[in-house]
Amino acid sequence: MTNENLDFFFTPRSVVLVGASNREGSMGYVFMENIIRAGYEGEIFPINPNEDEVFGLKAYKDVTDVPGEVDLAVVLVPADSAPNVMNKCGEKGVKGAVVISSGFAEAGESGIRLQNELVESSNRFGVRVLGPNCFGLYNCNIGLNASLALGTPERGGSISLVTQSGAYGMAIYTFALDHSMKFAKIIAPGNKCDLQDYELLDYLGRDHESGVICILAETISKGREFFETAKEVAPKKPVIVLKTGRTEGSKRAALSHTASLAGNLEAYRAAFRQSGIIEVRNGLEMIDLAKALDFQPLPAGKRVGIVTNSGGTGVELTDMLEEAGLSVPELSAQAQGSLKEFLPAYASPKNPIDVTTLWRKFPELYSRSIAALFESPDIDIVMPILLQRSAMMKEVSEAVRDTVIRYQREKGIRKPVYVCWVSTRDHLKNTEILQSAGIPCFEWPERSARVAGHAARYAERLQELKSRNPAPARVIDKKRDAKIESIIKGVREDGRTYVLEPEVKEILSLYGIRVTEERVSTSLDEAVAAAHDIGYPVVLKVVSADVVHKSDSGGVEVGIKDDAQLREAYERIEKSVLKNLPSARIKGILVQEMSKGKEVIIGSVKDPCFGQLMLFGMGGIFVEAFRDITYRLAPLAAFDAREMIEEIKGYPVLAGSRGQRGVDLEALTDTLIKVSSFLTDFPEVTTMDLNPVFVSETDTVVADGRMFIEERA
Ligand code: ADP
Ligand code: MG
Repeated sequence: MTNENLDFFFTPRSVVLVGASNREGSMGYVFMENIIRAGYEGEIFPINPNEDEVFGLKAYKDVTDVPGEVDLAVVLVPADSAPNVMNKCGEKGVKGAVVISSGFAEAGESGIRLQNELVESSNRFGVRVLGPNCFGLYNCNIGLNASLALGTPERGGSISLVTQSGAYGMAIYTFALDHSMKFAKIIAPGNKCDLQDYELLDYLGRDHESGVICILAETISKGREFFETAKEVAPKKPVIVLKTGRTEGSKRAALSHTASLAGNLEAYRAAFRQSGIIEVRNGLEMIDLAKALDFQPLPAGKRVGIVTNSGGTGVELTDMLEEAGLSVPELSAQAQGSLKEFLPAYASPKNPIDVTTLWRKFPELYSRSIAALFESPDIDIVMPILLQRSAMMKEVSEAVRDTVIRYQREKGIRKPVYVCWVSTRDHLKNTEILQSAGIPCFEWPERSARVAGHAARYAERLQELKSRNPAPARVIDKKRDAKIESIIKGVREDGRTYVLEPEVKEILSLYGIRVTEERVSTSLDEAVAAAHDIGYPVVLKVVSADVVHKSDSGGVEVGIKDDAQLREAYERIEKSVLKNLPSARIKGILVQEMSKGKEVIIGSVKDPCFGQLMLFGMGGIFVEAFRDITYRLAPLAAFDAREMIEEIKGYPVLAGSRGQRGVDLEALTDTLIKVSSFLTDFPEVTTMDLNPVFVSETDTVVADGRMFIEERA
């Protein structure tokens, strides 16, 4: 958390516009027009060396000529003069600068140089910079439009939006206005040369005017800090993220679009899930969900009650809801009884409640059915379907609105209402009756069900996250760390980044992780002696810096029961490894205890953006065939480790099912946490692969370990 006050960006007392212009159609003109029209009440100082006045306001030659203090500068000048403007802003003591100009890091070599100059200058003077290459910002509630987008926003909004893509974000914003949605702050951070995503999230998290935070991002900068901030913010208010650039094709499009290093999608997803962020798939879904969460309270559960004038639509909506993890339960006999009092005899009172085609009575039928759903203790979410005739009749929308208001505001029943709307364009205007009263409408069952699913899952996630304890505090153990560092030093001195199995095991055991009992032998006699010490059956494995996948080259022999078998296996390994990899240098043969249990995998990759990302899943053939794997960012709290275990499809196999006893889940949880502590303490680990780890009723033991480290510490 930064806790830095960024108010000077959002509620500046004065703004200079560097590059303001009277020339119609120019950027300097658009910005002047925007900032004046939107009704900003602070002082505005146009900067233009060739004009006496811009838009009737006295113009200044330079930022330094402006009288009084300046909070915010909006910089519109070409990229190559921006660093100089930044110097002037610094001299003037400007607190924040929004650099709209493009031609920086997104434009290749020379642009990167200019961006570095810009950052150097802003750092020197302590000017915070939003951008460059951005659309600007809005504080709708004070009429501050320091952006390229047209329009005067309505005040009183509580949705805030951070959008990496300026044009798309602004399109989303204007589209949302059509749906009676109102915004608080909109920020297009552009190249994020200074002000980072996590700082904006932190600011909006503390901002009382921002009730719902939306983030549209191709890449998230400073992923680790973002993750830490999100853990604070997301449990307090909904944070909806649309992460685009998820596929190979779109990554290419994104790369030419923004100039930042993308992390891996699994790392993003882990960060979102672990912090409570809601991930949506596209812009439309983001708008829908922001509307639902801004307009309506959160559901207390997943049970939906539907009222419809089309049985078929009710069936489709039920399908979509149940596919989204919600339920549409049959109403109690008592509730059905009271519905029968006013529904036509042939109508279904079960849920969905079908009001049939008795359209003259629609206002009353909808109103009383919705009332029954509010009163039913078996329902958490109320979803009226308004389709064709019921959507056409504005009396129906009015009746729905009045009933919802009566129950939510007057009777204080906080069940959310999401209206599923199906009509022609002509009658869409009736949605305004509902939406202007804060009752959101969504076109078609698909969109309605998605929103309900997200809202219910988020509400549930908040409860789960409440029970979460923080990850264990880092334990500094100098002796342990010194030993590990010397092992790592040895690896590097050997010219390797590949840490061999016995080395990995030694490191892990220093973290209190149980590994197989084993010894490296350099002769057959040593191997026999080791096997006697360990006790048959044993496993033999090749130890070689040139062999990464040991069994692929015939380097693993399991289930060796006696000296005779050991001799044969020993020779077989030497022969087949050298046959497969003639130049392999064999350091020795590992004699290892034979483990029993179910095979799982624990692994990690170091993400460039988010840091250590852990994975867990069923091992053996399951890894490749089913990709039954889940991810979390290290360090893990016990809660995260438990979730990882419970999340995989193979969980019932571990927990015990169909007469099979379950494995020791406590020991497995503990192993995951300890591995995560090691990864957190040793960020030089680039990837790790513990596969298999054998888990049984009594034990969790690491039977194979492979690790890579960075070349230099
Ligand atoms: P690699 O992954 O380099 O091919 P492993 O050490 O994972 O080599 O060995 C290959 C397979 O042999 C494992 O997936 C596992 O099924 C089995 N195996 C390895 N070590 C043991 C052990 N100590 N006890 C039982 N089975 C083992
Ligand atoms: Mg293995």
